[in-house]
Amino acid sequence: MKSKQDIIKKIEQILPQTQCRRCGFADCASYAKALAYRTTQANLCTVGGDKTAQQIAEIADLPVYQGVQSVPLFIARIEEDGCIGCTACIAACPVNAVSGAAKLMHAVIADECTGCGLCLEVCPTDCIQTVEVKDNFLPRNTFLSRLPEKQSAAKEHAALRYQQKQIFRQPETVSDKKITLNINQLLNQAGQKTASQKRISVKSNELAEQELQQQKERSHQRNLRRREQYGLDSE
Ligand code: SF4
Ligand code: SF4
Ligand code: SF4
Repeated sequence: MKSKQDIIKKIEQILPQTQCRRCGFADCASYAKALAYRTTQANLCTVGGDKTAQQIAEIADLPVYQGVQSVPLFIARIEEDGCIGCTACIAACPVNAVSGAAKLMHAVIADECTGCGLCLEVCPTDCIQTVEVKDNFLPRNTFLSRLPEKQSAAKEHAALRYQQKQIFRQPETVSDKKITLNINQLLNQAGQKTASQKRISVKSNELAEQELQQQKERSHQRNLRRREQYGLDSE
């Protein structure tokens, strides 16, 4: 008879390691544990879809469900004219796929992105876009893994990046710092930055405010399209 630890390990190898929380659990490992103890259903991983659900059901001896609603894969991309350098996306990213520093523009490391979407949810200016990809699995980077099969290597790579993030998380996290940031001030700076990049002189706060509102409206429209396309949670 297989031990719970064996079952958890096997399920973890099947799960995509996107760490997106769409299953309702904190991460892939938490979902694997709940499955091994048979306290949840086998069809909650929308990244893995039907095939993953069937494999899980077999291993955990759970009912097989068909028709798991799967979501298209994407990677995130930050629009430079909207980024105010608040660092919220760095804190949210489970696999350290965002680089940047406070009050400077941030960028997504495309090869490390698992497409979890967690950074999209926290960005105050909605300047993170989703870019649909042709890949069958993510992340593209696999150098932390020595597994020969590419998809398994990608999963292991993402899982190791996630573990590293947990280990090296400092007591005063970036998300703690976020609370002390003055978001209105940063948004105002973003409006001025947008205007200057378009070579428009900022003559008054009113003009900066107009620019900011337009930027926010564009972001809002992008956000709606993205939610429709990828089925991310509503705000
Ligand atoms: S990939 Fe996302 S939905 Fe699937 S088990 Fe991991 S965290 Fe849950
Ligand atoms: S960059 Fe965004 S979408 Fe990509 S892995 Fe990090 S949080 Fe997820
Ligand atoms: S959350 Fe948005 S505004 Fe803040 S640093 Fe990331 S991309 Fe820039």
